[in-house]
Amino acid sequence: MDASSTENFLQQLVRKDLEEGRVAEVHTRFPPEPNGYLHIGHAKSICLNFGLAEQFGGKCNLRFDDTNPAKEDQRFVESIKSDVEWLGFKWHGEVRYASEYFERLYEWAQDLIRKGCAYVCDLSADEAREYRGTLSEGGRNSPYRDRSVEENLELFQAMRKGKYKTGEKTLRAKIDMASGNINMRDPILYRIMRASHHQTGDAWPIYPTYDFAHGQEDAIEGITHSICTLEFADHRPLYEWLLERLPVPSQPRQYEFARLNLNYTVTSKRKLKQLVDEGVVSGWDDPRMPTIAGMRRAGFSAKAIRDFCDAIGVTRSDSVNEFAQLEHALRNDLDKNAPRAMCVIDPVEVVLTNYDSHATELLNAPDHPHRDDIPLRSLPFGARLYIEKEDFRESANKKYKRLVIGKRVRLRGAYVIEAESCTKNEAGDIVQIQAKVVEGTLGADPADGIKAKGVIHWVAQHENVPCKIHLYERLFKAEQPGKETGNFLDDVNPNSLTVLDEAYAEKSLLDAKPGVSYQFERLGYFCLDKTSSSDATIFNRTISLRDSFDK
Ligand code: ATP
Ligand code: MG
Repeated sequence: MDASSTENFLQQLVRKDLEEGRVAEVHTRFPPEPNGYLHIGHAKSICLNFGLAEQFGGKCNLRFDDTNPAKEDQRFVESIKSDVEWLGFKWHGEVRYASEYFERLYEWAQDLIRKGCAYVCDLSADEAREYRGTLSEGGRNSPYRDRSVEENLELFQAMRKGKYKTGEKTLRAKIDMASGNINMRDPILYRIMRASHHQTGDAWPIYPTYDFAHGQEDAIEGITHSICTLEFADHRPLYEWLLERLPVPSQPRQYEFARLNLNYTVTSKRKLKQLVDEGVVSGWDDPRMPTIAGMRRAGFSAKAIRDFCDAIGVTRSDSVNEFAQLEHALRNDLDKNAPRAMCVIDPVEVVLTNYDSHATELLNAPDHPHRDDIPLRSLPFGARLYIEKEDFRESANKKYKRLVIGKRVRLRGAYVIEAESCTKNEAGDIVQIQAKVVEGTLGADPADGIKAKGVIHWVAQHENVPCKIHLYERLFKAEQPGKETGNFLDDVNPNSLTVLDEAYAEKSLLDAKPGVSYQFERLGYFCLDKTSSSDATIFNRTISLRDSFDK
């Protein structure tokens, strides 16, 4: 099959533009507003914009759309840069900021005034809303619409000098208050805002709106394909109206695609901020958050996120994707690449009665069942071990293929053992299991022909990494959080985090690094939490082993 026949509509469009010579080189941009951390929805946009540039040998800029200082912060700038890099993309040249263009935008706004295409308006926000009309009813002209060019220039320059209070005046495009498209009813181009800006400090008391800034920024940077989400389709006429009237150095074009929506989560910075502000999660990078930083801390690989974005495709119709599909991409990648290790998260002690209590040995186990490029790891073995409480029963039927008194089980990568007895505390809980090693069973079946039914994981007591385990589950228990009550917080899963305080990981995990997931045999995928220290080791469960996604 020809590669181009499976391409999405934007790939096809760029291919055609290049073939027909409409553009010499594709140049895209990813334009986040630094008012929060990036989430999985942004990942789709990043993969799309950077992916198009990569595929067609072009360029992609990273541009901060920093036109609203009230909500923005330098720490978001830093997190966004590191997330884009972590996802595996490299922006063209320096990072750009809309704020670098404030002077030029200010000049261009005056050009519009001189052409009679913009005016200073004194209507308050409430009044302007009332004048704007509704979807079914046209708006009314502002009483300030017919100010002379000279008066408008003078007022606008006074706005720039800081003569007015926040909200006292705006600069508006003079288009058509009767337009069927509300965005064309004399949209605001500049507003007065007394807020310190993370890049420009207190230099500007006025800030351009998204609508006035975006297309012009694209033109300054020579963007050929300005790709945004569908809700901006109605802004496109304004985007074009401005570009036609301003002395811009290039003519970018806007294209829209359907934003990513995922069930069982929220993809809105406003809602994510609420989760952080109200302490539902520990921060923007809490491993339960659908932020890139959160997923990374949980142990997601960048490749899994990119694969997911590829798999869901790019279209122009809104839909909701399944969280399970993201998890499927993650399991696929981790299954292939995550080294294996053992960790006991709900431990009970096993004493091997026929193994010299002072002896120890180092066994070798493969790090991955299907990959020879990952070296063997060594597993300390001794007379005292930990296994999971649920892997032992005093008696059980045949379906239970773990350790039972009088029965055999294989310890992964080690011997077959047979349970003899157990000791309980006053409460009746099993606190120790006594078992014997079946001789000659390292890498071989028992000589007497009585095979072990199952395999369990274990960790030696004399050498291991004591740790805590954070078991995470989905943050929301409803497919569409907030659908029933109108408040998405009502659907927060109260059991999204379980902390296990006493766990033992095999010794090789002393080398574990945050961001690298391991498959803990039989338990799932885990990775070291970034807050771990030498006296408090924490492993996050990235995801369980079972896959429920049905393609
Ligand atoms: P949010 O809706 O979460 O507040 P936003 O659109 O305000 O996001 P921006 O920082 O403006 O966030 O977004 C940067 C880019 O990412 C924009 O081009 C935007 O269209 C795109 N984007 C944002 N959310 C999604 C999403 N859910 N799916 C795809 N692209 C998205
Ligand atoms: Mg936005």
